[in-house]
Amino acid sequence: MSAYFKPLPNPSLTSRPFWEAAKRHELKLQRCAECGKFVYYPRDRCPDCFSDRLEWRPVSGRATVYSYTVVYRAATRLFADAPYILAVVELEEGPRLTTNLVASPEAMRVGMPVTVFFDDVTPECTLVKFKPA
Ligand SMILES: [Zn+2]
Repeated sequence: MSAYFKPLPNPSLTSRPFWEAAKRHELKLQRCAECGKFVYYPRDRCPDCFSDRLEWRPVSGRATVYSYTVVYRAATRLFADAPYILAVVELEEGPRLTTNLVASPEAMRVGMPVTVFFDDVTPECTLVKFKPA
């Protein structure tokens, strides 16, 4: 196993459940117990109704590509594995996530169905990524 050199997430008290779920290969998002909407990114209050009654719920991991870009020339040497795809995917539950989409750049289309997968990049850290469904 080779070492992983890219920057890693630094979970906050608020976002820690997201990363702990990812470690278990589960995609969980906050859901507002007042208005029922899913919330992403992790926050202390619902951006829609301002309730602080946010609960962590599993979501399907099924999404479609909302937008994407192919990075051919990385901004730093830490991302020397370019080309890679940065995408915004829209989950079927509603929220949009910025993510790394692992696919052939030529195969990419806005609206294409994608599904979550979990990349155990270090023994301590698992990243949430997407691939074509
Ligand atoms: Zn709400």
